[in-house]
Amino acid sequence: MHDDLKLFIELAEFLISEETNNPVAIPIDTKKLYDTIDIELHDEPTIDDTFKDTLKEIIRSTPKTASKAFFNQLFGGRISRATLGDLLAVMLNNSMYTYKVAGVQVGIEKIILQSICERIGYGENSDGTIAPGGSMCNYMAMLMARDAFDASIRNEGMSKTLIAYTSDTSHYSVTKNASFVGIGRHQVRSVKTNAKGEMLPEELELQIKEDLDKGYHPFFVNATAGTTVLGAFDDVVKISQICKVHHLWLHLDGAYCGSVIFSKQYKHLVEGIALTDSFSVNAHKMLGTPLGCSIIVTKDKKHLYQSFSNDADYLYQTDDDAFNLGKTSLQCGRRNDALKLWTLWKSVGNNGLEKIVDYQFYLANVARDYIRSNSDYTLYSFDNSISVCFNYKGISAESLCTKLYEHSKLMVGYGTFRGNTFVRLVTINTQVEEKDMLLFFKTLENFVDSEDF
Ligand SMILES: *Cc1c(COP(=O)(O)O)cnc(C)c1O
Repeated sequence: MHDDLKLFIELAEFLISEETNNPVAIPIDTKKLYDTIDIELHDEPTIDDTFKDTLKEIIRSTPKTASKAFFNQLFGGRISRATLGDLLAVMLNNSMYTYKVAGVQVGIEKIILQSICERIGYGENSDGTIAPGGSMCNYMAMLMARDAFDASIRNEGMSKTLIAYTSDTSHYSVTKNASFVGIGRHQVRSVKTNAKGEMLPEELELQIKEDLDKGYHPFFVNATAGTTVLGAFDDVVKISQICKVHHLWLHLDGAYCGSVIFSKQYKHLVEGIALTDSFSVNAHKMLGTPLGCSIIVTKDKKHLYQSFSNDADYLYQTDDDAFNLGKTSLQCGRRNDALKLWTLWKSVGNNGLEKIVDYQFYLANVARDYIRSNSDYTLYSFDNSISVCFNYKGISAESLCTKLYEHSKLMVGYGTFRGNTFVRLVTINTQVEEKDMLLFFKTLENFVDSEDF
């Protein structure tokens, strides 16, 4: 192991220097991929020096998500205290299903879940789990809602038409999950949004009434804290009132921006969160931990047991169920995704997490101010969003983003809302400084000057 640890340090140093010197790796055409790097598997072993060279080649060519030129997705950067925790989790290699096998790591996950439940005002009976991604958190929420509506579905299967509601700007996983849950994709209603991409509560109410009139069974509403393109926040208070009247489960998908719960200045964006039945958040987005760290909590933990526990005497042989986390998780064997968030949280405290969140809004304001002060730009995003959406000189966002990538200048993506396609700059990397933000715009402008658009 010592040799490989040494090799690891060498490779990690190499990666860090590449991130600085070549922040956007040269893209390899998929048709040439297998000829460019020796990734084929053979009968014979690879000698150490070749192995190392190949690894370096792979590192050189891999997109650099921690570089200061990466704005492409809803994650990015590297907060070293969180990475440290994940490296340790790999070395420790526990599986989180039982206390016997994971020990104190179970306590670490439970502390994180409890702290989040307390922070959002969920009360004594709440609990949660860590799932393999925000999409799977939404899946778990819909499953709990289905079983809360009718527990017999677990054994008998579906016999009624259950209807779920989510806004037309929400994450695609909601529709996809409806097929896994057994209600069917066509039973997901896409509720209209306002000009900011926020769900219209009156449209939700109308839809529910229409479905009730048809004899269908509304059971679940998905609200979003930070929509994937614009970063919009649905009005939880208003939506919760409608859910209460019609006895619907309310889930708040905070995968992108649910971490505003850590900020005194921005937690108003999820006002009413205590009124929801479940809430999910990706720590690997706004909190900057390595992928993935997706947390789902529910106000009444009985729903977790109702939907996810199964007896297995070959597995659960010791300790009380509250410490055997396999009883409330989607998976059986489960990697330790808690430790990376804990090492970060423990080292910076609540105040540090708050700074991380606030800084992203600060950076977004820097970017928006720059755009507003320059008439070559058109701004599409709103305040209180860390997705800064814009166009430059009327150039097609699609071709601009693609060319910036092909020429190894910047990694940034585009999105569409109401017929407009625009560049979506995500200010989620807290290692990015104001000067880097301004450099982003300069790089883009110089590139446009030097190319034909
Ligand atoms: C990213 C995102 C998801 C999906 O999370 P994964 O961890 O990528 O599965 C779900 N909902 C919203 C709003 C998101 O932004």
